[in-house]
Amino acid sequence: MIEVTVADITGLQVDAIVNAANSSLLGGGGVDGAIHRAAGPELLAYCRTLGGCRTGEAKLTPGFLLPARWVIHTVGPVWHGGSHGEERLLRSCYQSSFALALANGVRSIVFPCISTGVYGYPKDQAAGIALAMMRAHEERFERIIACCFSEGDAEHYRRLLAEPR
Ligand code: ADP
Repeated sequence: MIEVTVADITGLQVDAIVNAANSSLLGGGGVDGAIHRAAGPELLAYCRTLGGCRTGEAKLTPGFLLPARWVIHTVGPVWHGGSHGEERLLRSCYQSSFALALANGVRSIVFPCISTGVYGYPKDQAAGIALAMMRAHEERFERIIACCFSEGDAEHYRRLLAEPR
């Protein structure tokens, strides 16, 4: 089942939360900063051992102090106008995250609106990609949650979900 919620992702009780990280995996602002603050310093120490992450790929860590068992760190593309592989790379973030989740027995997973903060991806387009990828994996999970940080962001998802497939 696909759900849309407006929440701070760090408080959600699921098997895995996805982090919109940067390629260093050494923390940043936005949702990345919130996840590191809530997980505690052990997360950063663990991330230091991972050697970063390429755009469109994903890496798994424990959740440490988070209610979630795992954090899946993925690096979204920076929006450069749309003709620099942004769509392919954003799809790849979801694909890589779902693949890691399946390989680790995850049944419930929550995604933030990857790339739509400082990376500047247009929110409606990003929501369309997110939902297409979620629908493609819907049968293999109990819960897939799109975690928005504002009602306005959630509206993009709700509108698209209401459309016939
Ligand atoms: P990116 O660099 O991939 O654009 P950001 O962290 O800047 O990542 O933004 C991604 C999305 O995460 C934005 O929609 C932002 O509003 C949202 N966000 C920021 N903090 C949180 C949080 N604590 N929980 C859920 N979403 C958040």
